[in-house]
Amino acid sequence: MAQAPGDIEALIALMARLPGLGPRSARRAVLHMLKKRAVVMDPLAQALAKVAATARDCTVCGNISDHDLCPICADPRRATGSVCVVEDVSDLWAMERAGGFKGRYHVLGGTLSALDSVGPDSLRIPQLVHRVEEEGVTEVILALNATVEGQTTAHYIAEALAPSGVEVSALAQGVPMGGELDYLDDGTIAAALAARRRL
Ligand code: ZN
Repeated sequence: MAQAPGDIEALIALMARLPGLGPRSARRAVLHMLKKRAVVMDPLAQALAKVAATARDCTVCGNISDHDLCPICADPRRATGSVCVVEDVSDLWAMERAGGFKGRYHVLGGTLSALDSVGPDSLRIPQLVHRVEEEGVTEVILALNATVEGQTTAHYIAEALAPSGVEVSALAQGVPMGGELDYLDDGTIAAALAARRRL
């Protein structure tokens, strides 16, 4: 493949590290930006510099923000009594897109993993326990992924919060909206059966 000048090659190499972009699409993206300097590259460069300078973790919930408090924590209309625990900021965004939750969040920053030596202290779990004690939280909803790590983490958190007496619940697991039983894996059907509800 033809080599671009050094700085441009370096940019392509950086872009290629982004999720969803390989070397080939990174090269295409950089070429596109170079051809559309005024409308794409210059505004993008400014936006990147701005976000790089201001982005930080919300000091309360761990959401990505451009202030010490994220827009959700700063919103007086969001109920303080209800806290939804998620693994990552992308999960928080997914919950917000879905709508329906009017409380606040707590972003763990991952899941417990003995294999990768991720313990509770590197997951903002102590901060969660502290919040529950200090903020008058009455309900904690564990919206963790239905993976082994997610469920292990959920159990650990439920035990860590038990002394506080706060109500702890977890998202239902089972048949997705529009899902047909014949297409679901055995684990999903078993979870749905265990979580059955009275009609
Ligand atoms: Zn926040």
